[in-house]
Amino acid sequence: MGAQDVLTRKTGVIVGDDVLALFKYAREHKFAIPAVNVTSSSTVVATLEAARDAKSPIILQMSQGGAAYFAGKGVANGDQAASIAGAVAGAHYIRSVAASYGVPVVLHTDHCAKKLLPWLDGMLDADEAHFKATGEPLFSSHMIDLSEETVEWNVETTAKYLKRAAPMKQWLEMEIGITGGEEDGVNNEDVDNASLYTQPEDILNIYNTLSPISPYFSIAAGFGNVHGVYKPGNVKLHPELLGKHQEHVHAAIGGDEAKPVYFVFHGGSGSSKQEYLDAINHGVVKVNMDTDMQFAYMAGIRDYMLNKKDYLMTAVGNPDGDDKPNKKFFDPRVWVREGEKTMAARVTVALQDFNCANQL
Ligand SMILES: [Zn+2]
Repeated sequence: MGAQDVLTRKTGVIVGDDVLALFKYAREHKFAIPAVNVTSSSTVVATLEAARDAKSPIILQMSQGGAAYFAGKGVANGDQAASIAGAVAGAHYIRSVAASYGVPVVLHTDHCAKKLLPWLDGMLDADEAHFKATGEPLFSSHMIDLSEETVEWNVETTAKYLKRAAPMKQWLEMEIGITGGEEDGVNNEDVDNASLYTQPEDILNIYNTLSPISPYFSIAAGFGNVHGVYKPGNVKLHPELLGKHQEHVHAAIGGDEAKPVYFVFHGGSGSSKQEYLDAINHGVVKVNMDTDMQFAYMAGIRDYMLNKKDYLMTAVGNPDGDDKPNKKFFDPRVWVREGEKTMAARVTVALQDFNCANQL
């Protein structure tokens, strides 16, 4: 028995009840699925290859900036036009290629702060058009991040978006509490410590507000997490707080689900494997992976460039002879592939660390 047994669609992009079934299975079997930020076909295939080889489900996510990059840095992004077009293009690309890798894929979009809501609106327009044509949304899930706003407005607005997503059985991830650091223009580097930790009452309030609308939602709750890069040891993670949230919600709503909430782990770069496992034991089913993946992708290309430097300075002529051609060294399929290999290796480590490997 594996995760694929609980899915109606076993490979390729999954939606609706399959997404819920996958997260439920992950929570029960105590593993989390890495959500890898992708910005190009190259980073998509590197991630899918790692998931296939590790027999794992995978989440591919595009950020607002990553989606714009998918459309091309030369495209103007007024009214989020490039981010919408790029996300839609990326989604169609991922849908076309994902099934070739034989694993279930959750197609997700990353942090959407208040000022970026037109991006989410544009993607939901594309979802509704796709739903009308095919009976399913284009994306499996989206994320809305109003954690910088008041809790009241955050929850109320998130509920509004969940109402829009619910008829399509589309998953919505929301954020509460502040994740430190800097990402996608949201800078929380100077925030005081107490607000890095979400309170159990807030989680219950979110659960009580959202669950009557739809069961397809998850919560990224701050428990000392920091976005981006930081020196190890500079941050105190308290994953046990997630366990307290679960107890608080369970005590209030009852039922036989001891861990009723689906949690998401943001800002994990630099965390120890044990910190991840503790969070997973408390109901984390998705872990965002961006910073570590960017570094891993770069490393393969960096090493290639440094090692093959003398074969890359001219189209013809290298240490083996003045008339030797260098085409096989400067073909992008050769050196970009080196980045894919090192990124895939880093995805594999994440799949193993989160107990996601061999779960299909
Ligand atoms: Zn976050």
